[in-house]
Amino acid sequence: MISFRDPNARLKTRNMDSRTDFLIIGSGIAGLMVALKVAPTGTVAIVTKKQAVDSNTNLAQGGIASVFDQQDSFDLHIQDTLTAGDGLCNPDVVRQVVTSGPERIRELVAIGVGFNTAASGSQGTAATALDLGREGGHSCNRIVHAHDMTGREVERVLLERARQNKNIRFYENHIAVDLITFSTRIKRGLVTTTHEDYCCGAYVLDRLSLRVKTFGARITLLATGGAGKVYLYTSNPDIATGDGIAMGYRAGATVANLEFVQFHPTCLYHPAAKNFLISEAVRGEGGRLIDAGGHPFMQHYDPKKDLACRDVVARAIDTELKRTGRESVFLDISHRPAAFVTSRFPNLYEKCLSFGIDMTREPIPVVPAAHYMCGGVVTDIFGRTDIQRLYAIGETACTGLHGANRLASNSLLEALVYADAAARQALQDMDARHQGECPNVPDWDDVGTSDSDEQIMVAHNWDEIRRCMWNYVGIVRSDKRLARAQRRIATIQQEIQEYYWNFKVSAHLIELRNIATVAELIIQCAAHRKESRGLHYNIGYPQKDDRRWRKDTLTRRQMLG
Ligand SMILES: Cc1cc2nc3c(=O)[nH]c(=O)nc-3n(C[C@H](O)[C@H](O)[C@H](O)COP(=O)(O)OP(=O)(O)OC[C@H]3O[C@@H](n4cnc5c(N)ncnc54)[C@H](O)[C@@H]3O)c2cc1C
Repeated sequence: MISFRDPNARLKTRNMDSRTDFLIIGSGIAGLMVALKVAPTGTVAIVTKKQAVDSNTNLAQGGIASVFDQQDSFDLHIQDTLTAGDGLCNPDVVRQVVTSGPERIRELVAIGVGFNTAASGSQGTAATALDLGREGGHSCNRIVHAHDMTGREVERVLLERARQNKNIRFYENHIAVDLITFSTRIKRGLVTTTHEDYCCGAYVLDRLSLRVKTFGARITLLATGGAGKVYLYTSNPDIATGDGIAMGYRAGATVANLEFVQFHPTCLYHPAAKNFLISEAVRGEGGRLIDAGGHPFMQHYDPKKDLACRDVVARAIDTELKRTGRESVFLDISHRPAAFVTSRFPNLYEKCLSFGIDMTREPIPVVPAAHYMCGGVVTDIFGRTDIQRLYAIGETACTGLHGANRLASNSLLEALVYADAAARQALQDMDARHQGECPNVPDWDDVGTSDSDEQIMVAHNWDEIRRCMWNYVGIVRSDKRLARAQRRIATIQQEIQEYYWNFKVSAHLIELRNIATVAELIIQCAAHRKESRGLHYNIGYPQKDDRRWRKDTLTRRQMLG
């Protein structure tokens, strides 16, 4: 074991593959936005595990919630967020995010993001005349959008700007393996920490050369997105394996509220469609959920019917599927004029048509799927984790905004607001205390490991974890199912650990290790909460219990020292 605790140690570049002021892990909206904000003051390395564009952000459809309408107010947006969060939002955080929203949107417009404008329905750059959509749980029209491809437009512009910036260097096909914390004892990423630790970079696998590189940094920011791939059915792309949560946890950061997994009610149900989401905006524009007989059913579950919050709608569909034994329900917007549907939802229309479904004439078959992780690495209002010089922003963080349930289109907003807050704070941190400070860290040590001869173990465990989580830790939970899942995941974890220490790491193995860790933590949090609240529903405790459980579920790896 190697231990280095000399606070005066300086960064020695000779064993570093990269030395930078800011190491940003992830190139979605959170990572790119913070990069643009700190780049005028320091050097930035963005490591991203596939192509830079591969992110949840790029798939976001509906838009970004913010108050622009005359009828709307900050108080209404705050109230809607608190209602969705079901008693667990941090009101100060909600106010900060909501009131900063318009400024952050104007910033996007100023750098060239083309949102739809009210007058023409076409894309433009005048923030005063933005077209505002409506989504479930919102009491006003407040969803700023670029047709039904908002994320793609935002990602396009942010990437373009970041690539133009000479201070920002991209490392595509580089997957972070583990964080490096000062005073850490490390052997192949086995990181044990103490309370005085601070983060000074990360070990990163270059997927092309297959070499693990050492990235030293004064400030490290986790912007690794969500964890949808922990579940069998998900709207998330392949990158969403909860790496930031797993790395943060292993490094000793507190994580919270992982039981609150949002299942999007409407993913396209088609054997050839991989993870295709049918935006909530379809229901916002009058789309109705119907059963196979063509009967609407949401009136049986909530007074807001099809515009009820996502958890209510997802549970209603789950109940309908179990009640009828069918494989899907349907979302019908064929009563709206075809010209409106094709212009409002060009992407959805084309995609459905490619699977032989004409949404202007027939209902779309849909099922729920894991969509958004409300919990994550705990941060303060500046995005700081409880490890010094380590920040977490975007979906990987747990800021207190979402509480027990995220309000639709609040996540892109949260990422923007926290990218801004974290950038300001990180610049101050760097100025104030950490000039030049960064220890010399040992290179990745894989002595005694060999190339894997059993890739089948990795593939099999991937599948088993995702099925287990879908079946036992899904929309409706019970103590018995959670206990069963806990036992299975523990056995798989043991297998993965043995494999991990014996063979050279690969991207697949790194991700497997991470989804196993996140699965374990989700189960731990879910088993701990003996009530039903927001997105967490346990049939053994169907009521909310404010007296005992109106609090976050916090968990932290056992610390040394
Ligand atoms: C289909 C879909 C539709 C959505 N629609 C909306 C919407 O309309 N409005 C809204 O507010 N939200 C929406 N969301 C949620 C929203 O898109 C995400 O919460 C948000 O984009 C997260 O941004 P992020 O920057 O935190 O993460 P991401 O955009 O997911 O970016 C994460 C980045 O980290 C990289 N990464 C991950 N692990 C590693 C690693 N170990 N090493 C290196 N790089 C790594 C990834 O490759 C990626 O570049 C939607 C999500 C999906 C999936």
